[in-house]
Amino acid sequence: MDIEQFRKAGYQAIDRICDYHYSLRNKPVVANVQPGYLKPLVPSAPPETGEDFQTIADDYQRLIVPGLTHWQHPSFFAYFPTACTFESILGDLYSSSVSNPGFNWASSPACSELEVIVMDWAAKLLGLAPSFMNESGIGGGAIQSSASDSAMIAIVAARASYQREYPDTKLEELVIYTTSQTHSLGVKAGMVLGLSVHILDVKSEDNYSLRGDTLRSALEEDAKAGKKPFVLIATVGTTSSGAIDNLREIRQVARDHPYLRVHVDAAWAGVAFSCPEYREIGYLDEINEFADSFCTNFHKWGLVNFDSSTLWVKNRKFLTEALDITPPFLRTKQGDADTTIDYRNWHLGLGRRFRSLKFWFVLRSFGVQGFQQHIRKSIGLNDLFVSLVKQVDIIRIVTPPSFGLTVFRLDPPSQQQQTLESLNILNTTLFSRISTRDDIYLTQTHLNGVVCIRFAVGALLTSESDIRGAFDTILKEAAWAIDTWKE
Ligand code: PLP
Repeated sequence: MDIEQFRKAGYQAIDRICDYHYSLRNKPVVANVQPGYLKPLVPSAPPETGEDFQTIADDYQRLIVPGLTHWQHPSFFAYFPTACTFESILGDLYSSSVSNPGFNWASSPACSELEVIVMDWAAKLLGLAPSFMNESGIGGGAIQSSASDSAMIAIVAARASYQREYPDTKLEELVIYTTSQTHSLGVKAGMVLGLSVHILDVKSEDNYSLRGDTLRSALEEDAKAGKKPFVLIATVGTTSSGAIDNLREIRQVARDHPYLRVHVDAAWAGVAFSCPEYREIGYLDEINEFADSFCTNFHKWGLVNFDSSTLWVKNRKFLTEALDITPPFLRTKQGDADTTIDYRNWHLGLGRRFRSLKFWFVLRSFGVQGFQQHIRKSIGLNDLFVSLVKQVDIIRIVTPPSFGLTVFRLDPPSQQQQTLESLNILNTTLFSRISTRDDIYLTQTHLNGVVCIRFAVGALLTSESDIRGAFDTILKEAAWAIDTWKE
C-alpha cells in the first residue's frame, strides 16, 4: 500500500467506523456465533502473494464484525464496560502512524515527556497527592497495559525494597496479602513470582470489605509462623460486588507494620475520584496518606480506549531499582544524567506504546467537567436501576450498590423459607435465560456461595430508556424462571 492508497483506505475505514457506531443500537450486544466459527471461513495459511486491501477490509466487515461482542452497546451491563471515545481512536491512529516504542527519552522525547505530563494531569483530575506525581521528582506515574501488570510491578517493587531492607529474607518466607474478593491478579502475581499468597477473609456482614482487625490478626499469626508479609493488595471497588476495603482501619494497622507496602487496586472505581463527592467513600485521603501505589484503569470507566492502566507510586526508586537493567546499547547521556524519565524501567517490557497521546486527547477534549458528567451519569443510571428493583418484591439487592454497579438476585416471597441451594438454582436459571438473549448482556458472580447477578453501568451510549428496557427484560425472564422453578 502506498501513501495515496492508504489515504483512500483510511477515509473508507473512518466512514465504516462511523457507520458501525451509528448502527450499534440496532445490533445485538453479543455475537451470534459458535466457538470455532472463524477457522472454516479463512484459509489455513497466509496468502502466497499479497492481496488487494479492499478485499481485506471487506473481510473485516464480513468475518470479524459478526464475531464481535459490542462493548460499546448501550445495553452492555456485563463485567465493567470499557471506554471507547472518538478522541481515543484518533489518538491511537496517530500513535500507530509513528510507531514510536518510547522506552527511553532519546527513543522518543515526545512519547516520554507527554506521558510524564498526562500522568500528572490525571493525578490532579483524581485528586491524588502531589507525592504521587512525576513533578515531585520522587514519586510518579506511568501508563501500563493492565491492572494486572500494574499490580505485578507494584509487587516486584515492594519485594525489592523489602529485600533491600531485610537482606536475609528468604524468598519462600515472603507473602502477598489479598482478600477473597481481590481480583485474580493477586493470585496470578504470586504464581508468576513464585511467592505465597495469603487470602484474607472478608465477611458478608462487612459487605466484603477488608477490616483492620482481620489484617492485624493475619500479620500477628504470620509473624509467629516466621512468614514475611510484605505487600497488601487492597481494593477500592472489587470486581464481584464493588466492595471497598476499609483503608481507614488498614492505615491504623499499617502504622504498626511500616515494612508492609500497600498497593491499592481501583481498576474500575478509581476514576470516580474525578468527582469530589466520591473521594471520601473511596478513602482517597487515606490512599494519599499511606498507600505506596495506586492503580486505576482509564480504559474501563475513564473514557480512554484500551489499553490505559495508570499506575502511580510514591517512590519511583523502588520501581527503577527493581526493574533497571542497562546494557550498553540502552545507555544514553540523558539517562546517565538522570534528567529524564526512562519509562523502560517502569514496566516489564522494553518497548512501550505511545498511549499518552490518546490520553492527552481525551483529557483535553472532555476536561474535568466532561469526566465528572460521564461518571455522574453512569451512577445516576445505576441509581435508577436500583430504584426500579426496589419497586418489586421478587428481586433483592445483595450488597449495597457501589458507584455504577448493582448486585442482585431473585428471592421471591414465599410461604416457607427457601434454602440457599434452591434459590441458587432459581438464580442460575434466571442467569441462563438472560444469557441466551442477545439484546442485553450481564455477568454473574458468587458471593459466599450465593449466586448473584451483576448489573454494571458505564457505556457511553446507555440512557434512561436502556435501563428501563433492561429492567423490564430482567423482570420478564425472572417471571419465567420463577414459574419453571415452582414446577
Ligand atoms: N482489578 C479489578 C478490581 C477489576 O475489576 C479488574 C477487571 O475487571 C481488574 C483488576 C483486572 O484488570 P486488567 O484486565 O486491566 O488486568
